[in-house]
Amino acid sequence: MSDYDLVVVGGGPGGYAAALYSASAGLSVALIERDKVGGTCLNRGCIPAKALLQTAEVLRTAEHAADFGIMPNSDAGFTPDWARVATRTTGVVDKLVGGLSGLLKRRKVAIVNGHGRLVRPGVVAADGQEVSADNVILATGSAPRSIPGFEPDGERIVTSDHSTRSDRLPERVAVIGGGVIGCEFASVFTDVGSQTTLLEAMSVGVLPIGPDPEIAGVLAKALARRGTTIHAGARVGPPERTDGGMALAFETPKGAEKLEVDQVLVAIGRRPYTDGLGLTEQGIEVSDRGFIAVDTATMRTAAPNVYAIGDVVETPGLAHVGYAEAIVAVQTILGEKAVPVDYARVPWVVYAHPEVAWAGMTEPEARAAGIDIEIHKHKFAGNGRAMIIGDTDGMVKVIARKDGPIIGFHLVGPWASELLAEGYLAVNWEALPEEVGAFIHPHPSLSEAIGETMLTFTGRSLHG
Ligand code: NAD
Repeated sequence: MSDYDLVVVGGGPGGYAAALYSASAGLSVALIERDKVGGTCLNRGCIPAKALLQTAEVLRTAEHAADFGIMPNSDAGFTPDWARVATRTTGVVDKLVGGLSGLLKRRKVAIVNGHGRLVRPGVVAADGQEVSADNVILATGSAPRSIPGFEPDGERIVTSDHSTRSDRLPERVAVIGGGVIGCEFASVFTDVGSQTTLLEAMSVGVLPIGPDPEIAGVLAKALARRGTTIHAGARVGPPERTDGGMALAFETPKGAEKLEVDQVLVAIGRRPYTDGLGLTEQGIEVSDRGFIAVDTATMRTAAPNVYAIGDVVETPGLAHVGYAEAIVAVQTILGEKAVPVDYARVPWVVYAHPEVAWAGMTEPEARAAGIDIEIHKHKFAGNGRAMIIGDTDGMVKVIARKDGPIIGFHLVGPWASELLAEGYLAVNWEALPEEVGAFIHPHPSLSEAIGETMLTFTGRSLHG
């Protein structure tokens, strides 16, 4: 007889979603967490990072107030006070963590503090305490990858763990890695006045993997225009401490370069965090790269009644993918037929300025697959709402099979994160562009750019 129906190890988005969803289905649940509930996302990832991006947005808006006819009473301008910024960010995080704790309590999820370790089938130990359950879900998340010689000290060499919660702003910063984290932080740092250099190993400097290259190119140009120095194909040598900060030597296809900065942010990806979990001892398969092997139709591992979800499995490292995988695992536990996550069509958002968002295939992916495609695009430059909000950089790009459904939906521009929902549905519903184009989009709105793009597939248009 077990203590619980389910024990979840890890209280981040994957783990807390599994706990909340299974409790709402009537299961008795324990959640093992060694730190605060909410995991990386709430405490040192998505949420504080987006709060910082909003701070950057407020500064941009304030600095352009005169464009809207709001005149300053003096020409003193605006200065970011990073201690206050950190206080605000902490306030947002604390409210969400508190709300989540309350929700778990109301659902009667037992929270066990400690580092979970599988000790026997159906038994997890956490700092001396043993919890038994009929089912186990592993959701221990991920940690920043590091580069030899760039061991984070939280001051001069940092990861997003530090940058999301720091109360000090570096004056000169090098961001290593032009992926999602690198771009979001380069955007923040540039906008709040830090001298920012982005060093990316691949031949494309901004978001080399993931989005449609044409869409990523718009973000790259926008960052460069605002002052981010971007080096693609950068091979960074070990850093040297100097009196003033850190000296970085790096090579690019254009030659050798040197840079002095106050801080280096390492954002070269994340590794699955399964340290001390006791996986192999319990017959759980782990890949060469450290990910837990699962059948993604059910999220089952190789060990009976043990499931894994979120960043510990080799699927897109996104909080909302963790949520979706939690539901698949819990439905399987409940004996229901789960609908597996369609990983090729999940929503992606990079919350830099301008925002980048997409679902489905990029143009190069569709062409490489030999699909006969039709593409239409619509820039925000002619959109009334975009002009009103003073944010016209960007476009909508829709990729459909010739005379067939939408297979890729791509955005860069104002509120792309929120506008993505319609395109995500269209891609996953396999809607025809003309079907979406027949629906009315409110005027004036940013979403009209989507309606216009869809309408263009009929061979006719309004403003296109
Ligand atoms: P990433 O994989 O998105 O990007 C890492 C980048 O670093 C790549 O472009 C890679 O080519 C580059 N790189 C690797 N080694 C390098 C080196 N030695 N020198 C220079 N460049 C190097 O990883 P990330 O940005 O660290 O993000 C980690 C994870 O967090 C991802 O899974 C991401 O999806 C997730 N995340 C998502 C969001 C979001 O959805 N908005 C935000 C933050 C993080």
